[in-house]
Amino acid sequence: MKFRLTGKFGELSPVRNMQPHSGIDLAMPEGTTLRSVADGVVDRVYDGTGLIGKGLSVKMPDGTRAIYGHMNEVKAHVGDKVNAGDIVGLSGNTGNSTGPHLHFGLKDASGNVVDPTPYADKLASISGDHLGPLGKVIAIGTESVREKAADMTVEIALGIFDALKDFLLGATLIGSAVLIILKVAGWRDGGRWAGVLIVVNILLKFLFGGV
Ligand SMILES: [Zn+2]
Repeated sequence: MKFRLTGKFGELSPVRNMQPHSGIDLAMPEGTTLRSVADGVVDRVYDGTGLIGKGLSVKMPDGTRAIYGHMNEVKAHVGDKVNAGDIVGLSGNTGNSTGPHLHFGLKDASGNVVDPTPYADKLASISGDHLGPLGKVIAIGTESVREKAADMTVEIALGIFDALKDFLLGATLIGSAVLIILKVAGWRDGGRWAGVLIVVNILLKFLFGGV
């Protein structure tokens, strides 16, 4: 897991007045992108005045609630439908927090606290800037990037075509010149092949519409 587990579920600590820890704490830099671990509906947004600081709760179809706390910024509203992986906010250090971290908790449909540890790996893997540079480029307006990429592909293809055309024309001219020199030097067939290349050059010029 890429984040350090700094507070286990059920842990007793004076920081929490010796009350069992209702979730897990994952140390991460402030501003780390947080995503929903499951499909659901945002049923609560914490405004930062409570111990949990800024945060939210996502209610899954079975009634289980995933709770995020100590965030810097909540990027969802009560009633928003979220899919697993959707951005819900940025991590922070708000509320009763002694350092930048995410508090993550789970409550079952009856409101009982349950151990969220099985979600820790998934939560960590979808949190933060997990897209590489290429992923970011693709993510920023996939459509427009795709169109530009298509244009780029055409341009590259035309560039290769141009280069190839120039190369062929150059090669036939140089080839003819070399063969004429060889003819002069005494190679019997040189003149004939030079003639062939000159004809090819003229054909290429005709096909490509001149140099
Ligand atoms: Zn915590």
